Amino acid sequence: MANKMAACIFCKIVKGEIPCFKLFESDKALAFLDINPLSRGHALVIPKIHGEKLTDIPDDHLSELLPIAKKLAIASGAKDFNILQNNGRIAHQEVDHVHVHMIPKPNEEEGMGIRWPQQKTDMDKLKALAEEIKSKM
Ligand SMILES: [Zn+2]
Repeated sequence: MANKMAACIFCKIVKGEIPCFKLFESDKALAFLDINPLSRGHALVIPKIHGEKLTDIPDDHLSELLPIAKKLAIASGAKDFNILQNNGRIAHQEVDHVHVHMIPKPNEEEGMGIRWPQQKTDMDKLKALAEEIKSKM
């Protein structure tokens, strides 16, 4: 973990070792503009502590992220937008430090494109799955 943190670009941004276009900061979180934006106003919110995936960050450090994403959405003036948080390479996570994207969607071409491969619904299997997941929470 220590080596990963030392190399982590977002930890370096938190420490001020790499500059960013900072938009908001609190004790536990930092928000800044994405340097490879999908649209005007595309911003990131990160916890200040290092964790690769959502499941690695304590709840009290996660709870600020969504309200900050909401502030960014309002301040950007975006009417339509996506809030996105990817975990793992095949889920399109490129930086291994938890981050929430706020991506304005001003038109069909800019912002996020989504492929939504809906699966055929089997109500009995869904019911069994719900029971399985509930039993583990
Ligand atoms: Zn980090």
